[in-house]
Amino acid sequence: MSVRTKIDQLCARMHDAPQYPTQGAVLFVDLERRATRSKYLPAAIMRSFLGGRGANMVLLYNLLEEERDALDPEVPLIFGAGTLTGEMPSATRGNFTSRSPDSYAFLDASAGDYFPAFTKRLGYDHIVLYGLAPQWTLLKICRESVEFLDATPYVGLDNLDTAAAIERDFHCTERKDMALARITTAGENLALCSGIMGGIKSIWARGGGGAKMGSLKLKAIMIHGKPGDPPKQKELKEHNKIIGKKITSTSVIKNALKQVGTPFLYKPSRVLGALGTLNNQTTAWHESLDADNFDPYRPGMDGCFKCPVHCRNQNDMTPEGKGGWGSAALMGLKGNASYDKAQADVDHHKLRTYQGIKGDGHFDKYDKGDGPEYVTVGKFGPMIGLREPEQVLRLNNILNDLGLDSASTGSAISWAMELWQRGIIDASHTGGLDLSWGNYDTIEKLLFMTARREGFGDTIADSARAVERGKYPKEALDYRMAVKGLFQSDPHDARILKAFALGLSVATRGMDHLRNRVTLEINARVNDDAPFKTRLYGGTVAPQPNSYEGKEIAVRRCENTFAVGDSVGMCRFNTKLFNSPTLPDCSDFATQLSTLTGQPVTAEQLDEVGRNISGLEHLLNFRLGLRAKDDTLPRRWFEESIDSGPFKGEKIERQQFDAMKKRFYELTGLNAEGVPRADWHQQLALAATGFALRVELPRPLPGAPEKSIVIDRPVANVAELRNALRRHLPEARSALDDPSWNVTVNDEMILSGESTKALHNGDRVQLVPIIAGG
Ligand code: SF4
Repeated sequence: MSVRTKIDQLCARMHDAPQYPTQGAVLFVDLERRATRSKYLPAAIMRSFLGGRGANMVLLYNLLEEERDALDPEVPLIFGAGTLTGEMPSATRGNFTSRSPDSYAFLDASAGDYFPAFTKRLGYDHIVLYGLAPQWTLLKICRESVEFLDATPYVGLDNLDTAAAIERDFHCTERKDMALARITTAGENLALCSGIMGGIKSIWARGGGGAKMGSLKLKAIMIHGKPGDPPKQKELKEHNKIIGKKITSTSVIKNALKQVGTPFLYKPSRVLGALGTLNNQTTAWHESLDADNFDPYRPGMDGCFKCPVHCRNQNDMTPEGKGGWGSAALMGLKGNASYDKAQADVDHHKLRTYQGIKGDGHFDKYDKGDGPEYVTVGKFGPMIGLREPEQVLRLNNILNDLGLDSASTGSAISWAMELWQRGIIDASHTGGLDLSWGNYDTIEKLLFMTARREGFGDTIADSARAVERGKYPKEALDYRMAVKGLFQSDPHDARILKAFALGLSVATRGMDHLRNRVTLEINARVNDDAPFKTRLYGGTVAPQPNSYEGKEIAVRRCENTFAVGDSVGMCRFNTKLFNSPTLPDCSDFATQLSTLTGQPVTAEQLDEVGRNISGLEHLLNFRLGLRAKDDTLPRRWFEESIDSGPFKGEKIERQQFDAMKKRFYELTGLNAEGVPRADWHQQLALAATGFALRVELPRPLPGAPEKSIVIDRPVANVAELRNALRRHLPEARSALDDPSWNVTVNDEMILSGESTKALHNGDRVQLVPIIAGG
């Protein structure tokens, strides 16, 4: 079925006017036919899944044809701003969602900066993009119009130049009266590790969004015009003050994030002996990348739309650049470094010695910029064998301009370096490039080659898919640090912290910490206070970070909270449980949602909404062929122990991991295949697609351990149902094709005319063997 037919069907269930006072429209954009239409989602969708990530999943669930390749223009790319985006302090975020061309899962990436808030304030909650544009296109969205403009003049430009050219041509300034989501040459060239840029550094990074947008020939989406401040209700303003105060008075925000940004996390990971190093062959690396070593080059901080935190550390290594912002801010800060208190007072007294990357006094545009985040420090430091902060800063600035996801690109390079180290690839694969660990010159060059798919850059651009695209031999998969085909998002080696490990294995978008990471597992104060920890997660979680006991409870709670956070648009850094137990949580979101939408909601209901969102994501992944066996970890973490540090000898014990995962499934309501049990599946289906037909089976089938299957997209008759069953469960096709299995509908045996026997929502359907007993 074409995406246009699916959109027609979906629109028939949508409305022509807002369903609550602040609701924005869904803008459907047919890039091929240059046509648009807008509709409003039913309020019931908001009640079950909220906006942003949650409603994006509903839209994708309805519009995805899973047989199609991720880069097929009939597979839509969906943007969604959170329900509270632009309305609550630090609610700056929106998600891009689709099928991932990089991983085997769906694509879902969050970013802040200004694009999500500008889009929402213009009156759009979601933008659904589909169809192959006849030429490179710039989509210009204003309050009164949507225009399809020729983007040919911008093709071949990277991030900074694209923004500058559009500012010049449209007489506007990004963040002031314009916001821009754009791709770079990497996206144009369908590099699977490319993202969609939303600012100088802001990126919808994970899953290959740049390539997906490139596959539509869409260069950029411009929100044009100053959005203005909508009138706010008194109650909203009052509780916003409380939320703002909660954020800015939290120690880790005040002392770390506002001062040096996320690189503060490097030290606690290092002290713990948990830094992914040399493609996770080891876990120990140098102090030279501790956050204070970046002090001399940090002129200040930047922030997203009206966020009170400003966590985005800037860098400037040019002679005229200033530094020193946040220097000594971490001195004596013991909270997250508390596994080695002595480290809290270490200062490296780093001097500003940079004289250009070759030391010859030559500087260029990559010697200043925005960032790095901790992820980039880790992936372009220990993971590839670099230890100089100046080299990491410069690579960070290049990555930002090239629009590359530092997590996937860094992991793809570290994977290649290990293959080189082991002799699995050599100069004949790399075109003569020397991939020895820490070879800075090669790495810098390789980034540009990746964006343009030149030489060995074509292999890095294939990211985690390099083996299936024929670039590496099969044995290379043994060293690929990925889950569900997505490279690990953060640099933290999770062999020690079992809650981190569980989270990475079950995270719905692949090996990713932002879905559910129980960061507070490294906080000794939380671990040492058992009653507090129990209250925090709603159950008993073992205090030892390397224990498996109760970790499923913490991961479940984080997953619910973070899914809600993404769907209201809240930045993860300022969401309870990610960095601190005192940050805004579901009860704050419930208060603001009730005021803003006029539909009362409680924190407990939102917790359930969070579970719904992850449940629908598990169902999406099932449709994409993922099963319980894919909720796992890289081989290395099961078989190789950590070889140094205070937790030397730790690895993941398979049996204990399996038991922990099983408990997580039970707690979540997933069956043995990792998808919502039939009852819950029915509820999710009714909320998301408006259709649920439960089919009872005579026995469990591969992929259907419960002896029942829920068909969640409309089927008109029994013949269509048979096809839907085969499509839903390809691994059980031979059983489903068994001619001795008859269908009963509401206890009536259908012996002939299956194509005329109509089916309706909620019918009772059974597959019954004709010959029984014996
Ligand atoms: S905390 Fe940082 S990343 Fe998050 S919204 Fe604020 S400035 Fe942006």
